[in-house]
Amino acid sequence: MRALTVQPGTAGTAELTDLPDPTPSDQRLLVEGLAVGVCGTDREIIAGDYGWAPPGRDRLVLGHESLGRVQHAPPGSDFHDGDLVVGVVRRPDPVPCGACAHGEFDMCRNGRYTERGIKELDGYAAQLWTVEPDYAVRLDPRLTEVGMLMEPTTVVAKAWEQVDTIGARSFYDPRRVLITGAGPIGLLAALLGIQRGLDVHVLDRITAGPKIDAVTALGATYHHDPVDEVAGKLQPDVVIEATGAGSVVFDAIANTAAYGITCLTGVSTPGRRLSIDAGAQNREIVLDNDVVVGSVNANLRHYHTAADALGKADVDWLRRLITRRVPLEKFTDALTAHPDDIKVVLTLS
Ligand SMILES: [Zn+2]
Repeated sequence: MRALTVQPGTAGTAELTDLPDPTPSDQRLLVEGLAVGVCGTDREIIAGDYGWAPPGRDRLVLGHESLGRVQHAPPGSDFHDGDLVVGVVRRPDPVPCGACAHGEFDMCRNGRYTERGIKELDGYAAQLWTVEPDYAVRLDPRLTEVGMLMEPTTVVAKAWEQVDTIGARSFYDPRRVLITGAGPIGLLAALLGIQRGLDVHVLDRITAGPKIDAVTALGATYHHDPVDEVAGKLQPDVVIEATGAGSVVFDAIANTAAYGITCLTGVSTPGRRLSIDAGAQNREIVLDNDVVVGSVNANLRHYHTAADALGKADVDWLRRLITRRVPLEKFTDALTAHPDDIKVVLTLS
């Protein structure tokens, strides 16, 4: 079988590699890889920025936004041949820390977790892969063309869970959400907001293209004016921040409604400085009982929430998010993001 592999830490090493087919076992599902989504993390690993090969090896199989079809399910597992599945990305650390010991490996305290396609475990950008039944999640068969959107959906399912958990500390009746950034995370966060019956607003810098069409088709409102203006008018109860841009983050935090919750999901590059009125920021957060929370990754609970959310979504709308499908042998075409791309997908078969 062929797989997309890379020598982590060294730029320019991504290649298609012939690897031996995995053998069926009674402990793991054998899965035919259908597609993987490509995201910034994959591009950064390919650029040599980070990534870790499995112990004792030079190369790592890439891919963490998986989608496959079960070829062989171990007897006694909850899966059947032909099931549409995704594999979970993270595994608990070996110690394990208290969070990992309780299944909350997305909140790992010691950083020794492993991740398929990123950190010490081979990923899912392979024509065949295996996965432990406990770390596979079945998808609605209607999602055959779009199920690789699961992993980013798990990230927003967790972000919404953080918002709910924080909101529940007192009386909570959110009406309006502002989502900053109309990439896959922002658009999927908007989908979950609409599914909750909220008044959803999405802000980005672009003025035309498929991202805006996707916002409108969802029944949300698109904005491209400066964040402080838009948030100042909207006074959102919830902000889900998906740009990682410092100025956007601080302008959003400063303009929430009272009891506002801002959930930060964008990972930014250190070293960019901006001038902020720290006194005003502190005053706003304290006097409004605001909360700012960071959120990353997802555990099994979030995978199941995400599978439910995608299962009840309009498949035609989800299809809008996949702006390019690139066959595995042309993987280099998937590594450069075009300005209008939402999600680029590598097809594996
Ligand atoms: Zn841990």
